[in-house]
Amino acid sequence: MLALLLMLQQSVADSSPFRPLALPPPTAARTAVGTPGRGYWQQRADYTLQATLDTATNMLRGTGKIYYVNRSPETLDYVWVQLDQNLFAPGSVSNTLNLPPLRFAGGVVFDFSGKGFVGGITIDKFAVAGRALTTKVFGTMMRVELPRPLAPNLSVTFDVAWHFPIPPYGGGRMGRVGSRFYEMGQWYPRMAVYDDVHGWNTMPFLGAGEFYLEYGDFDVSLTLPAGFTVTATGMLANPSIVRSAQEGSRIARAFAAPGQVVQVITRPEAAANATRRVAGTKTWRFTSSGVRDFAWAAGSGLRWDASVFNGILVQTFYHPDATPWEESNTMLRFAVRHFSGALGEYPWPQISAIEGLVEGMEYPMVIFCPSLQKREDQYWVLMHELGHQWFPMQVGSDERRYPWMDEGFNTFADYDAAEDFFKGTAYGDTVRRELLGAYAATALPGTEQPLISKPDEVRELYWTAYQKPALMLTILRDAVLGREEFDRAFKEYVQRWRFKHPQPADFFRLMSNQTGRDLDWFWREWIYTTARLDQAIDSVRAGSDTTFLYLSNRGQMVLPVTLDLRYADGSSESRVLPVEMWHLGSRFTYRLAGQKRLSGATIDPRVVYPDIARDNNSWKR
Ligand SMILES: [Zn+2]
Repeated sequence: MLALLLMLQQSVADSSPFRPLALPPPTAARTAVGTPGRGYWQQRADYTLQATLDTATNMLRGTGKIYYVNRSPETLDYVWVQLDQNLFAPGSVSNTLNLPPLRFAGGVVFDFSGKGFVGGITIDKFAVAGRALTTKVFGTMMRVELPRPLAPNLSVTFDVAWHFPIPPYGGGRMGRVGSRFYEMGQWYPRMAVYDDVHGWNTMPFLGAGEFYLEYGDFDVSLTLPAGFTVTATGMLANPSIVRSAQEGSRIARAFAAPGQVVQVITRPEAAANATRRVAGTKTWRFTSSGVRDFAWAAGSGLRWDASVFNGILVQTFYHPDATPWEESNTMLRFAVRHFSGALGEYPWPQISAIEGLVEGMEYPMVIFCPSLQKREDQYWVLMHELGHQWFPMQVGSDERRYPWMDEGFNTFADYDAAEDFFKGTAYGDTVRRELLGAYAATALPGTEQPLISKPDEVRELYWTAYQKPALMLTILRDAVLGREEFDRAFKEYVQRWRFKHPQPADFFRLMSNQTGRDLDWFWREWIYTTARLDQAIDSVRAGSDTTFLYLSNRGQMVLPVTLDLRYADGSSESRVLPVEMWHLGSRFTYRLAGQKRLSGATIDPRVVYPDIARDNNSWKR
């Protein structure tokens, strides 16, 4: 009796792996089915900028207007602006801590510092209608007091002017070589995102966490040395003024013969340009619409190849000594076609890949890639940075918080793109297997961090932000949902959130609603915890007309079980036991009906899962 009373007093929390995931409730802006709601809103920021590069001092000076529209239901008294160049300012977090690069197994290095460079941005003007506004800088963020409250659906135009010294090495995301080659990102004051979930997104730029940006139109005029070759986000608006007749006719030739690579600047021409002195400057004007950022590259002595896919101008710019880059235009065009088919059409008129010191960085219509010796590596980096044109340039997720939603989703799509390009080769047939190898090498108990960790706090960024999400989606597609259902839902996610700002809960809800499957357990295991998988065959007992397979789930992760069954008569078959087998606990007795004598059984025979103990996966009579 006493024991019963004690039992009645004990409280038991739901510790089932299938308990609901705590998500923020749906709102008018974000629906229960994971789509933008009728009340969805998003701020707009259009930029009209003029910038001048002084190659003698390596100073960038800019002026311009930022047209900002408040589409939120609230009145704004102030706005926040991103000053990313302050990553290099004296007293920045990175400079003060003198942070070393992150180095990973497999040779991947992320150096988010300026390698000792001390610079930072100076805001010369931030005004409205001639009136300077009160501003206060907090590292890479600046708070700006509005002259009068900005009511819903009203706009304000900021007059801005700024300058900064260009770092030779810009945290792996931009930089220059002397005064002859520039890869420019984070080069103008950018409006911080104001959204319905976090309000102002003011997390600082510390290096690892990338960007979260509003969409808008850009009209940018760049005044640069007249002898430079230039490309940027958008299309050149004044080609007849800045482009030679020869360059123009060669680009026209690329449009006339889609799929053929045309040399716009040949190797000998590039070599001649590198030494020729051209006096004065020219102003290149680029316009683009519906983009979340603007980057550009310029230099002397660059080769320039062009081809056309589906009306899209595919451009590659590289130094004459960049060895595998003659094939890069073909690689890039192949990848544009692949991703357009897998994720939806590439939406912009051109894509430019620039070879240089940046190890790999993405901007709308512009990607910075290094020259790499191995052909597989060269394709991978070009294709990976191109894949970012979908995640996050189209699906505008919050990279500062959730790199798994852009780096991770992109890396998942990259394995398909690599398998496609290298189809039929040993590399193409086995490349995805490296994810399980990386799991064994990196996902160590006690040190591994969950995917949901913010990138600035992650020790193994390549694993957590890139590879593990790719493994997660591979298993979701191949072992949980099936290819057709997964592909349909994933494509729907891309379409629904194009040029918008999805949150993790939106993705979870959309995938569940589209596929009709409760996936809370899956996201908890893969994103919010470091749950490990250990499926086992404990024993097998033969009855008269039923064979009993005693299976157990010895880790914290649950997944369906794929069972390979071999019989004494020499026949065999494969059975998939759905994840519901674990509803009642971590042991499951599978009752195999029939009188055929079982001679052996194996769990996960094709080695799809990151099962941490494979020695308990097989049974043999
Ligand atoms: Zn990336």
